[in-house]
Amino acid sequence: DPRIQKIASAIRVIPDFPKPGILFQDITTLLLDTKAFRDTIDLFVERYKDKGISVVAGIEARGFIFGPPIALAIGAKFVPMRKPNKLPGEVISEEYSLEYGTDIMEMHVGAVEAGERALVIDDLIATGGTLCAAIRLLERVGVHVFECACVIELPELKGSGPVGRQTTVCVLVNA
Ligand code: 5GP
Repeated sequence: DPRIQKIASAIRVIPDFPKPGILFQDITTLLLDTKAFRDTIDLFVERYKDKGISVVAGIEARGFIFGPPIALAIGAKFVPMRKPNKLPGEVISEEYSLEYGTDIMEMHVGAVEAGERALVIDDLIATGGTLCAAIRLLERVGVHVFECACVIELPELKGSGPVGRQTTVCVLVNA
């Protein structure tokens, strides 16, 4: 798709952020390019419309940027998957491993119902640990994860492997 190249060029790469040795993929420059940002949303909407998806689950923080416009366009609700102690209501939590230590992801109880079909969205897949935690959280409450979608993949980290044992991952750009 000719739109992909423009999307890839709109993503800025910042060396040594947040620490030395890391090449950070900065999607804020994609958001400044109105055509490339719209194309990003359109590509996902074209893929996920009319698939019976009732939930778009967006991962904090950048899944909150791409998730809602996709949800509105395909007629699904948007459910935020948040860092711990951010959601005010009763939550269900899932712990997951990071490079150093662990983190926790939370979702409101009652936001989704057993039997619903979900799309999980984030800006980037690295090791896949974050997406795996989101899938586990949704599956624990009986939701079927139709697919995961990310704008960017860091293919060297092979994150689609662990996530792929549970569902497919759709990626627009390889970094
Ligand atoms: P994983 O769990 O797959 O190892 O890491 C994915 C998470 O880390 C995503 O939520 C993503 O937002 C964040 N992340 C890691 N590296 C980068 C990066 O270079 N750019 C951006 N935008 N996000 C990153």
